[in-house]
Amino acid sequence: MDIIKVMDDSLSNKIAAGEVVERPASIVKELVENAIDAESTVIEIALEEAGLLSIRVTDNGKGMSNKDAVQAFERHATSKIHNEHDLFRIRTLGFRGEALASIASVSKIMLWTSDGETDGAEVQLDGGRLLEHRNAAFRRGTDITVSQLFYNTPARLKYMKTIQTELGHTIDLVNRLALSHPTIAFKLTHYSQVLLQTSGSGDQRRVLSDIYGMAVARKMVPFAGANADYKVDGYVTLPEMTRASRNYITLIVNGRWVKSHAVNHAILDAFHTYLPIGRFPIAVINVEGDPYLTDVNVHPSKQQIRMSKEGELLTLMKEAIQQAIRKSIIVPDAIKKEPVQK
Ligand code: ADP
Ligand code: MG
Repeated sequence: MDIIKVMDDSLSNKIAAGEVVERPASIVKELVENAIDAESTVIEIALEEAGLLSIRVTDNGKGMSNKDAVQAFERHATSKIHNEHDLFRIRTLGFRGEALASIASVSKIMLWTSDGETDGAEVQLDGGRLLEHRNAAFRRGTDITVSQLFYNTPARLKYMKTIQTELGHTIDLVNRLALSHPTIAFKLTHYSQVLLQTSGSGDQRRVLSDIYGMAVARKMVPFAGANADYKVDGYVTLPEMTRASRNYITLIVNGRWVKSHAVNHAILDAFHTYLPIGRFPIAVINVEGDPYLTDVNVHPSKQQIRMSKEGELLTLMKEAIQQAIRKSIIVPDAIKKEPVQK
């Protein structure tokens, strides 16, 4: 007897959602990454109940055509890659074409969008089912609200932690996205409380100041270096200003915030004996290299990557940071001369 069947979209989307939609912060990540890929310069994120009740992301990017506004929710639908060649040269944050389909399958969605050329669109979905699609006057850009997250997957809903914990995850995420994109003005609010606001001035030290405060940002020292394949730069605190967790180290590779044990290790190595046990610097490390050298197609959440010539890259980072530390320890005044513009 034949018993194997291909799943319907609604079921396979829910399974895919299990991988990328872990909690409100994962939705914020996907929505904001879409806004960044759409070349937005202003992105606002508004939360209710830490995002469990609603997450609204508004951008001023390229928007979507009326037809794309619905197509975007299809599984494997993307405007970002078209063939296998593209897969190895990814310059956008998204490329899987799965996020909106997955998110829509476990929530209620309200979308307004316009590409500024054709009529704008209003689209409404419930649990992935299209309820409404009509023309709507809207400026160029996108405004999407995801509400009642996990309303149809109670098992997942039960796993949500307290409002404070969920909020903490989202603040941490938006901090890193803002650090990765200093030219974008971000605003994160919970009800009407502003949790983060950046200017979009392009100055990464200023974003550091928005996140960690001016006193910390002012004390961070810049570092830079390059080899044949990679360019590295960033800011790091000196041994006198440390934290009890390595969570304050942000690695950004070609504009994407990623996690890497190897890089954390290289940074701590750079500090060598300067760092007290159990203490970690605050650092932001930007790496630029040909996308061909990095593979982001490792995990659905796109938080891990594989980098070619990683050994050389780690040495480059370590040496650049070491040099900056040594220089500041010898001439501490050099730090004070670089004021933070506010
Ligand atoms: P991916 O980002 O991997 O392409 P998504 O499911 O996140 O997949 O989005 C599907 C498509 O919808 C995108 O490729 C893009 O064309 C469009 N899209 C989504 N969000 C936006 C946005 N904020 N502005 C413009 N286009 C968007
Ligand atoms: Mg996406």
